[in-house]
Amino acid sequence: MQKHYGVSPEELSNVAGLLQSGQIVALPTETVYGLACLALNKFAVAKVFKAKQRPADDPLIIHVSDLTEAKLVCRPDRRAMSLIEAFWPGPLTLVLPKTRIVPAIVTSGLSTVAVRSPAHPVFREVLNLVSAPLAAPSANPFGKVSPTRAEHIKQSFGDGHPPVVDGGPTKIGIESTVVDLSSSRTRILRPGPIDTEAISAILGEEPEMPEPKASRNKAKAPLSPGLLAKHYQPESPLQVFSSTEELMAFLKMEPSIPAATCVITHSPLKEIRFPSKSLKFMHLSESGDPKEIAQNLFARLREADTHSPPLILCPLLPETGIGSAINDRLRKASFKD
Ligand code: AMP
Ligand code: MG
Repeated sequence: MQKHYGVSPEELSNVAGLLQSGQIVALPTETVYGLACLALNKFAVAKVFKAKQRPADDPLIIHVSDLTEAKLVCRPDRRAMSLIEAFWPGPLTLVLPKTRIVPAIVTSGLSTVAVRSPAHPVFREVLNLVSAPLAAPSANPFGKVSPTRAEHIKQSFGDGHPPVVDGGPTKIGIESTVVDLSSSRTRILRPGPIDTEAISAILGEEPEMPEPKASRNKAKAPLSPGLLAKHYQPESPLQVFSSTEELMAFLKMEPSIPAATCVITHSPLKEIRFPSKSLKFMHLSESGDPKEIAQNLFARLREADTHSPPLILCPLLPETGIGSAINDRLRKASFKD
């Protein structure tokens, strides 16, 4: 039988069996790896929260095969139908009114639910075999760097890691765009691979972009519990710069940059002009292409961490297209309380 991304049919049916019996399994999606479980089984969902040490007030995204399965868990309106038509399967999550069968644990007690249909053939085949919606947040401990390769899950969770299906490096590399359609105002709760312009073009209106909140405690009514200013944090402190030029100026001017600081640039530097400083240079892509930068972002942050540098430095991208979504991750990864 045909293999999906090098995954055998036996492994896929084994995984489907594990999920059906209420276990959790890490699966590749086109964005990042997800920690999947049966979305309608509250005991299975509780295992995901426990494994990730995710706060109970941060709801999960439910993954479905298609619109028909989506209607089991949410009530799409006209805006949702046109976005689904345009972007599913793909990296677009919609927040919509939930149906009664969705257990409160998945939505953290909210009356809304986040739903998407992933495009990755492995995840789609598992959905097909399980024939039920799967909840799947990113397969990393809460607040840490997301996994884009199977080995990242083993690194993050150590010996007791959940079973992982290795579908290779993920194609997109950053999480889905989250659009809130639960009220008449359309809001982007998380910028992602499907950019604001693409969403505006389908809806014929400009969505709102709420500001991230500095603290979980100060948050009153949670518009999106995930709208936290701090997330995706590497172990070493990260400092971001508004542009590569600003980073270069900082490297020249700053005499007190600690030795072994890790400098992550968008593309390889033509010449490294700071021989007096023992800096470690890495780059996010060969060409500076924002899509390639997104693909490599989390892997590079993890790689930087393996050297335990005193500091990681990285410039932001121009604030357009997927650049805005990358900047969102970099700002949250560098946020200090
Ligand atoms: P993750 O699955 O870890 O990539 O994150 C899922 C994101 O979707 C988080 O930012 C959640 O807070 C957000 N989310 C999930 N469900 C809802 C919901 N019902 N309302 C608003 N945001 C949600
Ligand atoms: Mg996550």
